[in-house]
Amino acid sequence: MKYYSLNRQSPVVDFKTATILGQAPDKGLYFPEKIPAVEPSFFKEIEKKDDAEIAFTVIKPFVGDLIPEDELYRIVSETINFPIPLVKVADTVYSLELFHGPTLAFKDIGARFMSRCLGFFSKGNSEKITVLVATSGDTGSAVANGFYNVEGVDVVILYPSGKVSSVQEKQLTTLGKNIFALEVEGSFDDCQHMVKQAFADNQLKKELLLTSANSINVARWLPQQFYYFLAYKQWPYKNSPPVISVPSGNFGNICAGLLAHVSGLPVKHFIAACNANRVVPDFLQTQKYEPKAAIPTISNAMDVGNPSNFVRILELFDNQFVNLENILSSYSIPDADTRTAIKDVFDSAEYLLDPHGAVGYLSLIKYLKNHPENHGMFLETAHALKFYDVVEPIIGSTIPLPEPVKEIIQKPKLSVKIGSNFELLKDYLLRKK
Ligand SMILES: *Cc1c(COP(=O)(O)O)cnc(C)c1O
Repeated sequence: MKYYSLNRQSPVVDFKTATILGQAPDKGLYFPEKIPAVEPSFFKEIEKKDDAEIAFTVIKPFVGDLIPEDELYRIVSETINFPIPLVKVADTVYSLELFHGPTLAFKDIGARFMSRCLGFFSKGNSEKITVLVATSGDTGSAVANGFYNVEGVDVVILYPSGKVSSVQEKQLTTLGKNIFALEVEGSFDDCQHMVKQAFADNQLKKELLLTSANSINVARWLPQQFYYFLAYKQWPYKNSPPVISVPSGNFGNICAGLLAHVSGLPVKHFIAACNANRVVPDFLQTQKYEPKAAIPTISNAMDVGNPSNFVRILELFDNQFVNLENILSSYSIPDADTRTAIKDVFDSAEYLLDPHGAVGYLSLIKYLKNHPENHGMFLETAHALKFYDVVEPIIGSTIPLPEPVKEIIQKPKLSVKIGSNFELLKDYLLRKK
């Protein structure tokens, strides 16, 4: 498989190069030259297949021969070595729980796959790879955890000061060793902008082997398809494919689902569930794409004003609005409704939603109201515990801390404060080298 840049000003590359570069030299996102087709017979027998076999089948065409099959099989097995259950919440509503990984959010899956691929590619390399990543919370912890102790790789994480939860901050800042956390005095968009500038900087390019671990990296984006297939394996109504609601910020997750669908995965309809950051819901109404500054909300991992992966979604549907409109709807959910949903679902179904999952849940409910013949699932993208400061006052009780979280809460925060200015980041990276 070859990958081209969506800006079309850079040469095509293979999976290894796309993984190491992250972003194309022309600053475009890499996109696969063709979308592999998964045979319909595969879905007929999916219940009999084990999870690693499903994941391997899905990812193999994207990787090609760049990782030997037994090694790739090991990588996918380790990537999903925790449960990903589909849980019934109400008669027509299921929750796909993606929070059973080490940092309690779905980003573990992409990060675990990417770190293992990069570890494989950097074996025998004399030059150290620096992974540079901007995070609104969950990316950083998943990436930090995935890369912790991986030889030949340093990770530098930028996160917006005061805009991630205290659990998230501890997950980002307490590892040490090859993990370096920068606390940026600015928003997530500022962090992301600084990272983009770093990748475009000629001096940094010359002196460091920089790569991105944001969802734009193909090695993080593509494995997110796994759990859409695993959800279908567990889906009880095989004759009536699910409506899938995906809490969305940078749109990497839903873009992986759409890719899986274009490959053949049966899905009735997708819903991009957004908070007050409503660039995509507005686009689907007006056909005008107008990036905005991010608005802070209680589902802060989705506070993105200009979602990077949206261009990939357009590409998947040949930039034809009608194609997109047929498969995708989108809602913008205000915080007040998100809070009410957390409370109602906790009281009525004894199911604990996190603020992101709650946006997904509510968007699904809205869609099903107008399409009552359907059943659906929402992706529960994080454990409510990660956002206990928001969730506990809403439900009026405390969420018990799992052991790994108890442990990190005690540890000292190791981070460096930095202004939201690219020159400061550049300076830091050159000195750290
Ligand atoms: C990152 C994140 C999202 C948004 O995912 P995207 O792929 O950026 O759209 C949603 N929920 C949680 C909990 C997240 O961490």
